[in-house]
Amino acid sequence: MDIIALNDWGIKDDNLPLGIVGPCSAETEEQMMATAKDLVHKNVHVFRAGVWKPRTKPGTFEGVGEPGLKWLNKVRDTYGLKVGTEVANDEHVRLALEYDIDVLWIGARTSVNPFAIQEIADALKKYGGLDKPVLVKNPINPDLELWIGALERFAAVGVKKLGAIHRGFSTYEKIQYRNIPKWQIPIEFKRRLPEVPMICDPSHIGGKRDLIYDISQTALNLEFDGLMIESHENPDEAWSDASQQVKPARAIEITELLHMRNHKVENSAASNKIDALRKQIDELDHQLIAMLSQRMDVAKQIGEVKKESNVAVLQASRWDDIVHDRKNMGKDKGLSEEFIRRVFEAIHQESINKQDKLMK
Ligand code: PEP
Ligand code: MN
Repeated sequence: MDIIALNDWGIKDDNLPLGIVGPCSAETEEQMMATAKDLVHKNVHVFRAGVWKPRTKPGTFEGVGEPGLKWLNKVRDTYGLKVGTEVANDEHVRLALEYDIDVLWIGARTSVNPFAIQEIADALKKYGGLDKPVLVKNPINPDLELWIGALERFAAVGVKKLGAIHRGFSTYEKIQYRNIPKWQIPIEFKRRLPEVPMICDPSHIGGKRDLIYDISQTALNLEFDGLMIESHENPDEAWSDASQQVKPARAIEITELLHMRNHKVENSAASNKIDALRKQIDELDHQLIAMLSQRMDVAKQIGEVKKESNVAVLQASRWDDIVHDRKNMGKDKGLSEEFIRRVFEAIHQESINKQDKLMK
C-alpha cells in the first residue's frame, strides 16, 4: 500500500502520539464549543464529534447531521484544532468535504460492509476527497482480513493518508470491557501493514471511563501511534455513550500521565540486555514446543488404547479434573485462571483432533 507518513498528513508535526479527543456526538453548539475550549492543549491535535450516529436501536439519538459540521468549522476557526467526524455513506462524504472536515473516520458498523466501504471510497474520489486522512475502525467482529480489506478499498481509489483505529470487538461473553481488545489482532495488523498508523480508541474498548487510562497505556506500550478519546463537558448528561466519556480536563490529564515508550531502544546497554533476554525467550519457546509435541505423542498413545477398547474420545470428567488441577497449579505460579484455561483448552483441542483422526 502506498501510505503517507502520519507526520506528513498536515495534522501534526510533533513526536507526540496523535491525540483525537472530543464528544461521542455533536449535540448542541454550546456543548461543542464548551468542550473544545477545554481541549486546547499540545496533546490534542484533532477535535472529534460524531454528527451521524449509527445506533443499535431506532428511536435513540441518531445525530444532528449537517449543523454539526457547521459547529466543527466553528471549533476549528475559534480554537485552531483540526476536526474530524465519522462518515458512513456517499452523502456523508459529500457534506463532510463541503465543510472541509480535516479527518474522516469509518465506524465499526460500517467497516463490516464492503458495499458501504466501496461507496465511501468511490465518493471520496467523486467529490475530490482523496487527499483527506481516512481512519478505518476495526469491524465489530474480530476479522483481520475484513479490516485490511477495507483499507485496501481506500488505497485502491488513491487515498494515501490512511490509518487504522482499534476499538475492540463485540462479544457475547460478559467481560469487564464493552468491546474485548484482542490485542493480538492489531499487533498482527501492524506486522502485516507496518506503514499504516494504528490509533487506539480506549473509550469504546472500555465502555467505562475508569478503564481509559489503563487501556491507553497498554496501547502505547504496544507502540500505537495515537489515541482517540471521547470527552464531553458534562459526560453524565451525554446523549450517547455517557458512561465512557470524561471531562476535557480528565482527558488531558490522562494524556499527560501516560508513559511514552521509546519506539527504538537507543541506549546500547539496555539493548544488549534486551537481546540477551530475548535469547532466553527463544530458548524457552523451543522447549515449550518440544514439550507440547511430547504431550501430543502421549495423547496419541491414549487414543490407540481408546480405539482398541472402543472408548469415546472425550471424557468430560477427566477434562474437568485437568482444568481444576492446572488452574490451581497455575495460581501457585502466578498465572491467571483465564490464561491457564485458554492454554489448556487449546492443548486439549489439539489432543482431541489427533485422537479423533486416529479413530477414523
Ligand atoms: C464513535 O466513535 O462514536 C463510534 C460510534 O464508534 P464505533 O464505530 O467504534 O462503535
Ligand atoms: Mn461513541
